[in-house]
Amino acid sequence: MVPTVNPPTTSHHVAVIGAGAAGLVAAQELRREGHSVVVFERGNQIGGVWAYTPNVEPDPLSIDPTRPVIHSNLYSSLRTIIPRECMGFTDFPFSTGPENKSRDPRRHPGHIEVLAYLKDFARKFKMEEMIRFGTEVVRAEPAAENPKKWRVESRNSGDISDEIYDAVVVCNGHYTEPRHALIPGIDSWPGKQIHSHNYRIPDQFKDQVNSGSSVSGVDISRDIVNVTKEVHISSRSTKPETYEKLSGYDNLWLHSNIETVREDGSVVFKNGKTVYADTIMHCTGYKYYFPFLDTKGEVTVEDNRVGPLYKHVFPPALSPGLSFIGLPWQVILFPMFELQSKWVAAVLAGRFVYDNWLADQCDYPRIEKWREQMFYKVFKRIQSQSNTYKDDWDDDHLIAEAYEDFVKFPS
Ligand code: FAD
Repeated sequence: MVPTVNPPTTSHHVAVIGAGAAGLVAAQELRREGHSVVVFERGNQIGGVWAYTPNVEPDPLSIDPTRPVIHSNLYSSLRTIIPRECMGFTDFPFSTGPENKSRDPRRHPGHIEVLAYLKDFARKFKMEEMIRFGTEVVRAEPAAENPKKWRVESRNSGDISDEIYDAVVVCNGHYTEPRHALIPGIDSWPGKQIHSHNYRIPDQFKDQVNSGSSVSGVDISRDIVNVTKEVHISSRSTKPETYEKLSGYDNLWLHSNIETVREDGSVVFKNGKTVYADTIMHCTGYKYYFPFLDTKGEVTVEDNRVGPLYKHVFPPALSPGLSFIGLPWQVILFPMFELQSKWVAAVLAGRFVYDNWLADQCDYPRIEKWREQMFYKVFKRIQSQSNTYKDDWDDDHLIAEAYEDFVKFPS
């Protein structure tokens, strides 16, 4: 079923910043609603984080503000955390149809397959004509002559362009500006440090201590553990006495937080254990970061929260001219991008007026029950069978339901 919308009452000229999954679906929904859209993309292809590159930043901790930024942080062997059936946009399923035989059919496919899906989406809806590649937005601010409009300054090689838009939709992603663990003694610790942002392949690692634990931190540890002597994961969300070998491994340990590190190369955990390590990898996440955005203080990032924003999308003082797609992260992301985009497009059109709240606001069917249940089930599986959850599941009935829906959308 292709969703229908009412004819727009107002058409706007809208700048979308970023051509990752969020920017692509934002552009699609804005255009569907009748707006004219320009997508600014500083890279040379679509896909955002899913456009894997073996290149890394010269500063392995990504602290130097003058470093050349590498956007994608995926490591080479990464497979999706979320099953593919949950990840697709609602009218363009991320399926394993018979036409996709040459592709990666796994339920948790590798990153190349996600990029291929996004490219298919962009091709089907002829999106490239809206995108200016190699063009970075360096400033977006309310226009001096009319603060309801937006001045967007962009740079393509040496060329600077200055344009006025009715609205700006920010889709720049939030996995580029790393956060770091504050580890006592780290300034005199002699080993190497790297943020997971700059991790690609395991070969360079021996005798690891891996600081920081999250789903991706544990995934990276499993990637490294086969080539290295030992990996020690520290986690601030475990009890102080935690010290356990992860099941299925002889050389992968989970500890509580690091208490201190010392000049002799040792790493002391809160559980009292000490190990000697070559490298600390910070798998400690990212900061929201909008270096191009000047809202005169109306939108700030404090304690890694962006605000004030109504429902994580519209800043009350600047809406609907400014909006953000994709900020929440413990949700079913691609459908959320889509629903937020429908909402922004409809509000800009003057037509109206999270996942299911957005669907109601957009007069669009609610997220399918199978998708909700699949999402919750994968998180339960991550907790109960973290080694095997990508290859071993018990929700075939939900896959069957998903594919019953998918046949409604011939590609
Ligand atoms: P991005 O993909 O980061 O795209 C932002 C785009 O904006 C980029 O192309 C960038 O070049 C561009 N840009 C930035 N600044 C500017 C500027 N100033 N001017 C012009 N262009 C600019 N999600 C899932 O659904 N399933 C998963 O299994 C999953 N696994 C993940 C694993 C890892 C390791 C990571 C980091 C993320 C994972 N995610 C997963 C989340 C992923 O971030 C989202 O799926 C989604 O791709 C984010 O899309 P986005 O468009 O918001 O941001």
